[in-house]
Amino acid sequence: SKETGGNTVKFFDQSMRNKFQESLIIENALRANVDRGGFDQYYQPKTLLGKVTSVEALLRWNDPELGFISPGRFIPIAEEMGLIFQIDEWSLVHACKQNKQWQDEERLFIPISVNLSAKHFQQDNIVSMVDRALQESGLAPEYLKIEITESVFIRNPEHVAEVIGRLKEMGVQISIDDFGKGYSSLYQLLQLPIDEIKIDRQFIKDINENEKQVLLVQSILDFAHGLQLNVVAEGVETPKENALLIEMGCDEIQGYLYSPPVPKDELIKLLQVI
Ligand code: C2E
Ligand code: CA
Ligand code: CA
Ligand code: CA
Repeated sequence: SKETGGNTVKFFDQSMRNKFQESLIIENALRANVDRGGFDQYYQPKTLLGKVTSVEALLRWNDPELGFISPGRFIPIAEEMGLIFQIDEWSLVHACKQNKQWQDEERLFIPISVNLSAKHFQQDNIVSMVDRALQESGLAPEYLKIEITESVFIRNPEHVAEVIGRLKEMGVQISIDDFGKGYSSLYQLLQLPIDEIKIDRQFIKDINENEKQVLLVQSILDFAHGLQLNVVAEGVETPKENALLIEMGCDEIQGYLYSPPVPKDELIKLLQVI
């Protein structure tokens, strides 16, 4: 009836308004947090056979009023607001400095991976941003890895390829994150001088129960190894997944099985127990 139709519209309006207000609150808090430099960085190890082989830097925002807000929630908002450039530059510089400090103070020499939004690859200044971070921190470029998702190829793939080429010339490593989510063609990937792919957790989860999934991951591994790429399995949570993925030839394992992302002091303690 007309009556219920009206109610539906009203209800829809109300939830739209709530969503809108919620976004406004997060946007304002996010802008304030960027201004005061209120982010934290956590580190998740990647391992192989009892060794920590590298770490991934992950952003943390614990807002004094709103509490913990996950990057999965605020990164897309930061991308829309254009705040992502400042945020990612902070992540990048902070990670480079932390890794240099581990080298100097702990004699720990492993690459650190930093996530950069695909938005940067539509611009030119990402190359100078990375260069600045290396200069400022004194970190050698081979100890920095940049993780980008396949969605980077949706727009302007030639330009993206050129930017990646220039980063590679600097000596920085490039990793394709969430591999297999389906944004890029294998053909596009072949054109690029990348070093690593990270197999998305959706292919890892339940792999022990699904033979087709095993076949898929094995074919990704064969393809990537044919190109001399490093292959990381993401989101490994069980010993069974771990054993199978190592047997299949994954080069590094990352996931809650070994450790969630942790603050820097805990990362150092983990080195002894993994
Ligand atoms: P990502 O790069 O794919 O990072 C992996 C996410 O999976 C992280 O979530 C990590 O905590 C989580 N994870 C790790 N191991 C496991 C596991 O065994 N099981 C499950 N279920 N999850 C696991 P987090 O830290 O919430 O980050 C979410 C996303 O936010 C990241 O996904 C990345 O795309 C983005 N992000 C984080 N930091 C930055 C940053 O500094 N810059 C940019 N542009 N994006 C960032
Ligand atoms: Ca990542
Ligand atoms: Ca990932
Ligand atoms: Ca992801």
